Amino acid sequence: MSCYADIVLPLAFGSALTYLVPEAMTASLRVGCRVRVPLGQNRHYVGIVVRIHEQAPVGRSCKTIDELVDIEPLLLEKQLEFWQWMADYYACTPGEVMKAGLPIGLKRTENYRPKRCRLIRLSDMLAQTMACPENVRKMLARSGRQQQVVDYMMAKTRQGQPEWTLPALMSQTACSRAVIDGLVGRGLLEVTEKEVSRLETETEAPLADVRPLSREQRQAYASIVESWTVKPVCLLHGVTSSGKTEIYIHLIKDCLSRGEQVLYLLPEIALTTQITSRLKKVFGNSMCVYHSKVSEAERVEIWNRLIGQDSYQLVVGVRSSVFLPFRRLGLVIVDEEHEPSYKQQEPAPRYHARNAALMLARLHGANALLGSATPSIESYNRAVEGKYGHVSLSVRYHHLPLPEILVEDVKSLRRRKEMQGSFSPVLIGKIGEALNAGDQAMLFLNRRGYAPLLSCHSCGWTPRCPHCDVSLHYHKQSGRLQCHYCGWSQPLPAVCPQCGSHEITDTGIGTEKIEEELHALFPAARLGRMDTDTMKSRQHYERAIADFEEHRTDILVGTQMLTKGLDFGRVRVVGILDADSIMNFPDFRAHERAFQLMMQVSGRAGRKDCRGTVVVQTRDPGHPLLQAVVNNDYKKMYVEEMQQRHQFSYPPYSYLVDVWFKHRDASTVKKAAECYASWIAPRLPDMVFGPFSPAVSRIKGLCLQKISLKLPPSLSLSKIKEYLYSAQETLHKNPDYRSVQLFFDVDPV
Ligand code: ADP
Ligand code: ZN
Ligand code: ZN
Repeated sequence: MSCYADIVLPLAFGSALTYLVPEAMTASLRVGCRVRVPLGQNRHYVGIVVRIHEQAPVGRSCKTIDELVDIEPLLLEKQLEFWQWMADYYACTPGEVMKAGLPIGLKRTENYRPKRCRLIRLSDMLAQTMACPENVRKMLARSGRQQQVVDYMMAKTRQGQPEWTLPALMSQTACSRAVIDGLVGRGLLEVTEKEVSRLETETEAPLADVRPLSREQRQAYASIVESWTVKPVCLLHGVTSSGKTEIYIHLIKDCLSRGEQVLYLLPEIALTTQITSRLKKVFGNSMCVYHSKVSEAERVEIWNRLIGQDSYQLVVGVRSSVFLPFRRLGLVIVDEEHEPSYKQQEPAPRYHARNAALMLARLHGANALLGSATPSIESYNRAVEGKYGHVSLSVRYHHLPLPEILVEDVKSLRRRKEMQGSFSPVLIGKIGEALNAGDQAMLFLNRRGYAPLLSCHSCGWTPRCPHCDVSLHYHKQSGRLQCHYCGWSQPLPAVCPQCGSHEITDTGIGTEKIEEELHALFPAARLGRMDTDTMKSRQHYERAIADFEEHRTDILVGTQMLTKGLDFGRVRVVGILDADSIMNFPDFRAHERAFQLMMQVSGRAGRKDCRGTVVVQTRDPGHPLLQAVVNNDYKKMYVEEMQQRHQFSYPPYSYLVDVWFKHRDASTVKKAAECYASWIAPRLPDMVFGPFSPAVSRIKGLCLQKISLKLPPSLSLSKIKEYLYSAQETLHKNPDYRSVQLFFDVDPV
C-alpha cells in the first residue's frame, strides 16, 4: 500500500497538494513536519505535512516528496487546526495562512544559521604557566604591550572572567588588533567560536514582586476568576488608569504557576515598549516579545524555543503572534480589544486578531480576557447578552479623578475672531497653565503631514495622485506632494496647472503646522511630534515616548498614535483640535470610533495631585456624541449606536463580507464585478450591495471594485462561502475575466 501526504505550500493559490511518500520516509514522516517537494518544472518548495493517508489522488499523477526537513514537527497539532480554521473562516487558502504565519527563515530549505561569535581566551599553555608568572614575564620581555594584555587577562581570569570578544578586549586593554593577533600567533591566546542567541537575555537582575492590588482591583480580579468558572471569555471594562495591566499581571502569574502559557496581545508595537518593560520586571526571561520589528532570525529562535522543552511561558505580541506554537496555552489576554489595528487589511489572511485569539483560546480550552476602557460595540453586546462574563472597574487607581472635559465652539469663536490660528483661547490658557506649573500638554489631531490637502484658491483644483484615486498630501519638510497609498511624490507646482493662479493654499491642518503655531505661541516650550510620518521606525516611537515620559519635551503633538494606551505621569491638559473630522468620517463605525478615540486621548490627562483637563474643539458643540464624551457615558453611546445599527442592519445585527475585484483595466473590472453580483444576488436577496467604486478606487495602477454583503446572523457562513467560491470559479472560466483578481474580506473593519 502506498502512502501519501497532503502538503501545504506557502503560496497564495489553492489548497493542500497530495504527494507520494517515499518508502524510506514513511516511518519518520509526521504531520506538522516540513518537507521539500517538487512543483511544476524544476521548482522546489518547502511545505508542511497536514495529513498522511493512503488515498491515491484520482485522475492525476502525483509527484514524490524530495526530502524530509524536520525530525520533530515544526507545527503543533492545535496550531494546524487553528490555521485551518483561519483559512476557512477568512475565506483564503491554507497557503496564504502559512505564508503569513511561518517566519521566512522557516520557509526556506537552507537551514537557519545560528549566530556565532568569536571569543578570545588565554591558551591552555599560558593558563598552566599562570601559577608561575615569572615564566610569562620572561617570555614577553621584549613586548610591553603584549605583556600588558596578558597581565590584564590573567588577573581577570582569576576573578572568573575568562573570555572576551575582540572589540571588548581591545577597548579594555587599549591595545590594537595587531598586538592581540601577535599573541594569538605565538600561541599564547586562543580563539574559539561559540553559538550565541540573538535574543537579548536579561542579566540576572532580581525579579520584582507583583504589586498588591487595590480593593477595587482585587474585586475585579476575583470577579474575573469567578466568571471563568462559567464562561471562558470575560470582558474587563475598566476606565483608563484603573490599573487593568496590574490585574493582568496577577492573572498571568496565577497561570504560569499552574505551568500554563499566556498569550498577551497588544494592538501596536508603540505600546509594547512601555508594557514590556513593566512585564519584564516581573517575568524576566520566561517571556518573549513578538512584533513586526523582531528580525527574521530572532523569529526563528523564538519559534524553536516555543516548540522545544524550555519554552517561553509568556508571549507578548501584536496580532501575528496568534500564529506561534503553544503547547499548554492557559490564558489569552487581548488588551485594548476595541483597537481597529487588530484587523489585518492586506494581504490575506484578513483576520481580526482579537477574534482569532478567542478561537485559539477555545481550541486550547484556555480562558480569555478582553480589556478596554472603551469596548467595541460587538464585544460589549456579547457581554450584555451574557455570552461573555462582564466585569467593570470604574475608578482610577489611587482614586484619581477623571479629567474635566470642556467643549469649545470653534465656529462662534471664529465668528468673533477669537481663535488664534488653530487654538481657542481656553486651550491656549490651559496649555500656558500646564507649562507654568512644570507640567505637560498633549495635542491630538486626526491627520498627518503639513497642510494635508492643498487646493487652488481661485478654481478649486486639488493635486491628485496619477495612480490612485486620492488627493496628494503636502509635506512641508520635503516641499513635495505625496500619495499616502502608493508613495508617489512630486514637487509642489508653482502655479495652478488648471488656471495659472499662484494661490495654492492649504485647506486643513497637520501636525507640522500645529507645531509651528505652538512654537509662535509658546517659544520656550520643547515640542515633540508623534505621527505616522515621523514614526518610520521603532526607535522613533521609542524616542518620542521616552522624551515625553522623561520630560525632555513639554508638549507632544500627535495623531492616532497618542490614543494607544500610553501611560504618562505629568499630562495636565489634552487638546482635541478638530473633533468634527473624527465624527464625520464616512463609515458606519465613525461614532463608535470617535467616542473611543476621544475617551482614550482624554485618558492621558490627569496627575497624581491634580485633575486633568481635556479641551475638545468642534464646530458642532451640541452633537449628542460629545455629550456622551463629556459625561464619560459609554452606555449612552452604546444605546444610541445600537439603535442606528439596528435601523440599518449593521453588525452586530448582521455580518458583513466584502468581495473585492482588482484589474488594470477599469471597464473589465467593473463588468466582472457586475457579472459576479448578478450571479450571487438571486441566492442572497436584498443582501448584495454594489458593485461600487470604493473611496480609493485605484491603487498601484490597479482599479478596484467592491461588492458588499450584509448577511443576517441566521445564515450559515459556510453555505454562503460555497456560493461565493462557485461564482468565483465561473468568473475565472470566462476568458475575459481570467486575469481579474478577486478576494474576500470577512468582517471588514
Ligand atoms: P490601565 O491599564 O487601566 O490604563 P494601568 O495598569 O496602566 O491602567 O495603571 C495606571 C497607573 O496606576 C500605572 O502607572 C500603574 O503603575 C499604577 N497602578 C495601577 N495599579 C497599581 C497597583 N496595584 N499598585 C501600584 N501601582 C498601580
Ligand atoms: Zn486654479
Ligand atoms: Zn498613489
